[in-house]
Amino acid sequence: MTGEFEISSQDDAARIGLLHLRSGPVKTPLFMPVATRATVRLVPSWTVASLGFEVLLSNTYHLMLRPGPERIAEQGGLAKFHGFPKGTLTDSGGFQVMSLGARFNEAGVRFRSVYDGRWVDLTPEAAVETQRLIGADIAMVLDVCTQLPAPDAVVAANTTLSARWAARAKRAKHLDGQLQFGIVQGGVDLALRRSSALDIAGIGFDGYAIGGLAVGESTDATLDAVAEACSNLPPERPRYLMGVGDPYLISHAVDLGVDMFDCVSPTRLGRHGVALTSVGKLKIRSPRFASDGGALDEQCTCPVCRQVSRGFLNHLAHADPVSLGSYLSVHNLAFQMSLITQARSAIESKTMKNFLKSVDAVWAPSLRS
Ligand SMILES: [Zn+2]
Repeated sequence: MTGEFEISSQDDAARIGLLHLRSGPVKTPLFMPVATRATVRLVPSWTVASLGFEVLLSNTYHLMLRPGPERIAEQGGLAKFHGFPKGTLTDSGGFQVMSLGARFNEAGVRFRSVYDGRWVDLTPEAAVETQRLIGADIAMVLDVCTQLPAPDAVVAANTTLSARWAARAKRAKHLDGQLQFGIVQGGVDLALRRSSALDIAGIGFDGYAIGGLAVGESTDATLDAVAEACSNLPPERPRYLMGVGDPYLISHAVDLGVDMFDCVSPTRLGRHGVALTSVGKLKIRSPRFASDGGALDEQCTCPVCRQVSRGFLNHLAHADPVSLGSYLSVHNLAFQMSLITQARSAIESKTMKNFLKSVDAVWAPSLRS
C-alpha cells in the first residue's frame, strides 16, 4: 500500500527497508541522483535507471519557473515527462530560494526568477500546489534553510517558522497517493534539532527529512545533529538526509538510521573531471594518466570502467571535456550506487562496523588534503 515502509533487516540503528511509492516499491537505503531541471546533467534518465537508482530528485524551484508546473501536468506528470521509469521526488524550492537570498516573512518567500527577473511568491501552500501539479511520488514541505554559521537566534527563529509552515503544508490540498515529507531544521544546536524533530513528527508526515546540514559545519557536527534528529523521529517512517553525497557522511548516517540521500556531487564532480574511486578522488586530467591503460577504478563494474581506459579519459579531458563529464558522471553515479549496495549488504550481514572501517580508511575527513 502506498506510503507503507517495511523494515526487513537491521544492524543496530541501520536498517534496510522497502518504501511503497505510487509508482511501486523502492529499496532503502537509497541515493537519489539530482535531476535539477528534470534531467541529470549529461546522463539520460534510462542510463540513471540502468545503474540501479530507483528515485530521481528534481528541483521545484527550476521546474516552477521553466517549463512551469502546468506544462508538466499536461504531459502526464514528472515521471512521464523526463522518462524515468521508477520513483520521483521534488524538493519544495525552499533551498534554492534561500541560497539565492530571497526575502521571507510569516506568509512565505518572495524571490526574483533567475530566468527573467520577475518577482515570484512562494508560500507553503503554493509549494504543495506546485508539487501537486508536477506530480512526483514524494513532495517536500517548504522550509527555511539557514546558511551556517548563523547567530543562534536566527537559527531558532527559522526553525520554528519552518514548523509553522510545515503545519500549513500538511493542511493544504494534496495529490492522491503523493507522499509528503516534513523537514527537521535546527542547525547544529542539538536542543533545537530535538525540538524541531519532535515538532515536525508531531504534525505527522509520511517521512522525515533532515535539512540544513552539510552547509559549512564540521562533519562531526553534521553527524551529531543527524543522530539527535534520528533519535527523536518515529522509527517506523523513512528518514532522508538532504543534500549529502560525501561517502563518509552517507555511510555514517546510514549507521545512525538514515534511509535516503540526494546530492549533486557525483555529477558535479564528474563535470569537473573528478572521479570518485575505491581509493579516493582522482583527477583524470593529470598527465600521469595519459598512457595509463588501466580501468578508471579496478573495483567498479560500470560501463566506463569496463570499456575504456584512464588513458582514453585523459585524452577526452583535452579533446572533448563535455563528453568526459558525461563518462565521469556515469561512473561517479555507479560509485555512489555501489556504496549504497555495500551498505545494504553490511546491514544484512550485520557487519556495519567493518564497512565503516573500510570507508573511513579512504574517506575519513582527517585524510582529506
Ligand atoms: Zn566505473
